[in-house]
Amino acid sequence: MRWSFRIGSIAGIRVELHVTFLLFVGWIVVTQGLFSGRPGNALASLALILMVFGCVLLHELGHALAARRYGIRTRDIILLPIGGLARLERMPDKPAQEIVVALAGPAVNVAIAAVLGVVLGRLGRLGGPFTDTLLGGGLAESLLAINLVMLAFNLIPAFPMDGGRVLRALLAMKLSYVQATRIAARIGQGFALVFGVVGLFYNANLLLVGLLIFLAAGEEHAIVRTRASLTGLPVRAAMITQFDALDAHDPLQRAVDLLMTGSQQDFPVLAGEVPVGLLTRAELLVALQRLGPAGRVGEAIAPHGEVADAAEPLEHVLQRMRVRRRPALPVLSGGRLVGMVTLENVSELLLIQQALRRPPGGAPGSASGGATGGASSGASGGATGGVALL
Ligand SMILES: [Zn+2]
Repeated sequence: MRWSFRIGSIAGIRVELHVTFLLFVGWIVVTQGLFSGRPGNALASLALILMVFGCVLLHELGHALAARRYGIRTRDIILLPIGGLARLERMPDKPAQEIVVALAGPAVNVAIAAVLGVVLGRLGRLGGPFTDTLLGGGLAESLLAINLVMLAFNLIPAFPMDGGRVLRALLAMKLSYVQATRIAARIGQGFALVFGVVGLFYNANLLLVGLLIFLAAGEEHAIVRTRASLTGLPVRAAMITQFDALDAHDPLQRAVDLLMTGSQQDFPVLAGEVPVGLLTRAELLVALQRLGPAGRVGEAIAPHGEVADAAEPLEHVLQRMRVRRRPALPVLSGGRLVGMVTLENVSELLLIQQALRRPPGGAPGSASGGATGGASSGASGGATGGVALL
């Protein structure tokens, strides 16, 4: 994500901190310490914030490790002032699995709260009215209270928050995936509006959370709809058949010439008759710097390049392209190069499908929203947000 930097990795998952997180911590320290004239307060607030975000990180790890059980990798976990985000490569298609992944995060908060509760109980610090203890206590009591709030907040069925994912999965057991997502997204957006209105008066963070949920629900619905409209189509239906290919022995200058004189940006690469990969524009630029225009195309591409088969389901190939971040793939049939599939072309296919489905005189323009939201969007719609209200 832009403006975020790596702070380490846990269980092989990259953890990033967003710049705004540091600004937020600085703001808390300044307002709590300098303005109040009590540096001790600032230190206590800082300790609490770091521990809360430790809990947020563990919550996100809960999602990521549950997803790993189903063979789904997590691109990274990002910590933002409003909470954490585990960016899974995709969400499980099976509703039961989505429920496990969605609940694994809140389960971590339950575990943390339980441990804190037991420890505080042993120390005799949980006596008296429950709310008094939680709100008026020290660091551990505050942390316990915050974990309970995180738990409750994340379980609100505001898709795509955890509770909303559970709701979608439950609906998907009875309805189609698209219908279930549409209903869950509408409910999520309803909650988002409520958060927004309440946030407007009481809490700017809640306003921001409402806005993000509203947008994320809409985007994920668009992605699911797009995927559904591609279901059943083979790669062949969306491939380009008029294109230039390069030979592995060609100099990079030939790729430059083709790039400059045509509209094609990515080029399939052959070794004789055998397809060996694809040279993207980005790879061409990097290779030009490294090898110069006389360098060989074969040296510029990754070995064992990704390819698609003409008969393969288009949605599987798109999924692979998103995960591996490839803008295009060479398409093979019987081991021979027969075409090329690009995100751009898939977007065009979607636009055409929508135009054909729309009655004449229907609103134009609205078609493009759905198509670009699905095919070319870098977000795979697999992010699970764990929102902590601070
Ligand atoms: Zn979560």
